[in-house]
Amino acid sequence: MRPNSLHAADLAHMVHQQTDLGAHAADGAVLIARGEGVHVWDTEGKEYIEAMAGLWCASLGFSEKRLAEAAYRQLLTLPYYHTFFQKGHEPSVRLAEKLTAIAPPGLNHAMFQCGGSEANDAAIKLAWYYHNVTGRPQKKKIIGRIRGYHGNTVATASLSGQPHMQADFDLPLGDRFLHISNPNYYRAGLPGETEEQFSERMAAELQALIDREGADTIAAFFAEPVQGGGGAITPPRGYFEAIVPILKQAGILFVADEVICGFGRTGHYWGCETYGIQPDMLSCAKQLTAAYQPLSALLISDAIHAALLEGSKRNGSFGHGYTYGGHPVACAVALETLAIYEERDMVGHVQAVSPAFLDGLGALRDHPLVGDVRGVGLIAGVELMADKAKKEPFPAGAKVGLLVQEKCHAAGLIVRAIGDRIAFTPPLIITAAQIGEMCRRFRAGLDAAWAELQ
Ligand code: PLP
Repeated sequence: MRPNSLHAADLAHMVHQQTDLGAHAADGAVLIARGEGVHVWDTEGKEYIEAMAGLWCASLGFSEKRLAEAAYRQLLTLPYYHTFFQKGHEPSVRLAEKLTAIAPPGLNHAMFQCGGSEANDAAIKLAWYYHNVTGRPQKKKIIGRIRGYHGNTVATASLSGQPHMQADFDLPLGDRFLHISNPNYYRAGLPGETEEQFSERMAAELQALIDREGADTIAAFFAEPVQGGGGAITPPRGYFEAIVPILKQAGILFVADEVICGFGRTGHYWGCETYGIQPDMLSCAKQLTAAYQPLSALLISDAIHAALLEGSKRNGSFGHGYTYGGHPVACAVALETLAIYEERDMVGHVQAVSPAFLDGLGALRDHPLVGDVRGVGLIAGVELMADKAKKEPFPAGAKVGLLVQEKCHAAGLIVRAIGDRIAFTPPLIITAAQIGEMCRRFRAGLDAAWAELQ
């Protein structure tokens, strides 16, 4: 590495996020220089298919000029304004109007933040606020799921079920965060147990937790319709059908974390639509702006909004907000993104290419490393197994997922290893031909990893 090079400066000064810092110190970083469509190039000129759309977010790929122009137009008109103290601006109003029109029924109000963590953090605060204002101040606990990923603030990392995001950060905070099992049927299903029976077992576990803690102490339940950072895990058949009535019965709010699933990823506009969920709050981000600007929205029900009004009267104001929440440039880019989704029928496109995606990856079940492939729309997870006939996982610490990720990288494919599960969420604009090439590169990566393991 040359002194004074970009890579040397990166090593010396940049703290990378969600990174094995020891590996970074030893190997340096891959720095991405430019993008076009579903492809990106690094500073060494190597080309990749970006099969993770960055961080599950660059839905329109890496060269959508209309979004750059929308940002530029707004920068020239009104580069900044806020929504505090009864002030506001057109882009955020128009976006709130649009989002609530396309949201699942009953979510008629939108609050804006800069990212998914802030949206979920706000949802936790609003759950407490709602119950306090409506006379149930003892409802405090929040239920998440093991391996769930809801963000990196103090509260959302506490809610997430990811041990490495809590260890040495003094998290989870207090005793307000509870977790139920991860619904990975392939890994956690018992011998002979059907998917529906597994879902019933998951629901019984939730019921037992509520009975143990007391429904009157629990404020909300958070779930990603398809779990992303936990491994691109689709819910087993009957899962939400079994869980939702239990929460309703116990007066527990359902918060759908659609930060990954929202805007067509699962083959419908919302993951809630794919799985028939009617949430009390819905958080969304990432594909809201196709990732061209940092923005998130928390959509809330009339009942929760009424509590905000009541609380505002009681406390003199609704005491919550961010300087950059609903930034006009981000909102303008979101409006343009949503217009593009509609004009190009992006949901229809996802439905059209999803069979090529799921069948193409599914065909890799014949590979000795691949135990299972599961997905919906344009999100999928591939389980790597030491002995798939015996359903035997690799020993903890063998890091086979990382090996496959590295070999895919060498083959020109960016995927993400989550333990021994490989996640795929390509830009929504990916074509069937590009999916074919993605699968070809993935097989090359698997073959290279297999050869090294022999
Ligand atoms: N929720 C889910 C489901 C996510 O996948 C993520 C990030 O990947 C977040 C929340 C946090 O979003 P952000 O990184 O924008 O804060």
